[in-house]
Amino acid sequence: MIRWSLSAELLCIIILMLLMFSSHGQKQAPTRSQRVYQTCLLLSLDSILLNILCVFTIVGTIAVPLWLNVLLNSLYFFISVLMCSVMAAYLFSLILEHAYSDQTLRRAIVFVAVLTLFFAAAVLWNIPSGILFFFDEQGAYHRGPLNALGYGILAVELAALVVCYLLHRQSVSRNMAHVMHALPPLVVLMIVFQRLYPEILLNGAIITIADLILYISFQSRRLDLDSLTGVGNRKGFRNELSLRLASRQRFQVILLGLQQFSDINRRFGHQLGDAFLYETARQLERLFPRGRVFRFGNVEFALLLPYPDDDGAARLQTIRDRFEKPLTLGTDQAVLTARLADLLCAGEHWTVGRLLEALEYSLDLARKGDGEPVRFQGQAAQMLQRRKDLVSLMRQSLQERRFRVWYQPVWNTAAGAFTSAEALLRLSTPEGEPISPAEFIPLAEESGLINDLSWLVLEEVCRLLSGGTVSALESVSINLSMQQFLDPDLVPRLRRCLETYALSPTQLKIEITERVAAQDIGRTAAVMDQLSSMGIHFYLDDFGTGWSNLSCALDLPFQCVKLDHSLLSAYPASSRSRQLIHGLVALFHELDVAVVAEGVETQAQADALGGCGVDWLQGYHLARPMPEEALVTFLNTAEKEALPRV
Ligand code: C2E
Ligand code: CA
Ligand code: CA
Repeated sequence: MIRWSLSAELLCIIILMLLMFSSHGQKQAPTRSQRVYQTCLLLSLDSILLNILCVFTIVGTIAVPLWLNVLLNSLYFFISVLMCSVMAAYLFSLILEHAYSDQTLRRAIVFVAVLTLFFAAAVLWNIPSGILFFFDEQGAYHRGPLNALGYGILAVELAALVVCYLLHRQSVSRNMAHVMHALPPLVVLMIVFQRLYPEILLNGAIITIADLILYISFQSRRLDLDSLTGVGNRKGFRNELSLRLASRQRFQVILLGLQQFSDINRRFGHQLGDAFLYETARQLERLFPRGRVFRFGNVEFALLLPYPDDDGAARLQTIRDRFEKPLTLGTDQAVLTARLADLLCAGEHWTVGRLLEALEYSLDLARKGDGEPVRFQGQAAQMLQRRKDLVSLMRQSLQERRFRVWYQPVWNTAAGAFTSAEALLRLSTPEGEPISPAEFIPLAEESGLINDLSWLVLEEVCRLLSGGTVSALESVSINLSMQQFLDPDLVPRLRRCLETYALSPTQLKIEITERVAAQDIGRTAAVMDQLSSMGIHFYLDDFGTGWSNLSCALDLPFQCVKLDHSLLSAYPASSRSRQLIHGLVALFHELDVAVVAEGVETQAQADALGGCGVDWLQGYHLARPMPEEALVTFLNTAEKEALPRV
């Protein structure tokens, strides 16, 4: 008679129950691999419970007929091996998770299934033959000659797992690598121990330790998941990309950005807004069951797909078709506007950083475009390169003090003289090719260089004004971007500059667009009040472009509004344009706000604008932007020579 100790098994039951409780207690729907893991836990528990039951029936604590004893033991043998096989299949899927070799995974699963069926046949054959175990005439339990066959199957599966791991180790995640370093030696050690000390039941402990190791690796994987949608998060996406790039895989990656999602939040509330994001992830998973979905940003999703057989455009169309139709949540429906960008990686050398940069840039282009998806290739790649070159040119130019400030004189219609000027930044390539500020200013804002640039302009303007060479100018205006305007250092810095150069605050004017002002109206108003009380005046720039509205001009203390040159395109020929401009001028004057007309390019415009009472004129017809030395000469000559006729 064999004596058995059950204490280890009982402890294992408690651990397994805790694991089951914990892995069921997540709020997201379980993924396929979570379901397989939960099946492993269930089979592990069954196997241990059956084992204990069999111990009692064998030693006679629970008296059962011989046939039932045979049945229970056969079931125990089979369930134990089935559990090991499910776990092996699960491990194969984790090892091959990033290799995207469906065929290899299928082969591995068939291999495990064949082994399991073979063992099932052995269990059946055991009933007449007793090769695994048998009961003698007195009902005593005996081990058969192939009693350790189950261990043999386990050993073969383990060996196959190790081989599979070694073959795909480059694309195996770090967590999985840890599992593969720990699990096989531990299992082998415990099996040896079990064979040496058969009276201590260790099968349950082996199973439980395997489950525990997997659980720990599972847990850490959750750090890579997005808590709202249950799909991978940005970190998970990065990890996934780095594994694929390391093993030089070919794949397609699609980025989907939802447009104006704040409207959805406003319309349905944040809770339903979240539900729409959750639904977006599910839709993408449903459209591409073989792909992997990640929540890349707040309202951006990334899709990793196998390399397409064609050019991959059909996949983009599939997403567009789906998102043109409304998503339904209960009784609520919404059409989410999606913008798409994609990239085909054919195993070229990319780093994760460069790949993400390319994708984000392409999505940015798609967001600004007409709704067509943007693929990162050809033109997009060139544009990104140009941006990168520009940022490095700006850095270098800042260091080498190669930025220049030019001035565009502004005509004062009442005084009949150029009494003001706008400071405009200038940058050229080392070859002397000029680069438009309309191109480099937004880039400087994105790359954080705008601060240095703005302080450079401020310093230059103050130096110019204090030098006495442009005494004809009552003031010079500078443009401030969003970042400076909300910079807590702005007010002290301006104050310091005015003091250092002994200037009156009225000599410096600040131009901001409504885009700057609207960022944080409360803070903008506070900063403007502070500077206004010092005597600095403000211009509302680019009035009449997409960013302007009247309430901004009314609510904030602007002394002057600059009508954008786009308003002058049909002026003064078109009567509607005349009505608009004249109406605006009258309205602003009513509000005690002065008006500058920008982009005056013809004498006819200058005449008509002067006639309707516009206070200031700025444009190529009157004066182009010019360097400091040219400005000094220009002002001197303009004073002496015939003034422009307005
Ligand atoms: P903005 O503030 O609207 O500046 C006026 C722009 O109109 C200047 O372009 C000027 O050269 C151009 N302009 C002047 N007269 C005419 C005209 O008669 N016809 C036409 N078609 N254009 C005219 P620029 O210098 O290329 O600057 C473009 C934009 O870059 C500026 O628009 C401003 O938003 C930004 N910028 C320039 N310098 C700075 C700066 O120092 N800081 C910041 N934050 N932005 C700046
Ligand atoms: Ca301006
Ligand atoms: Ca402007």
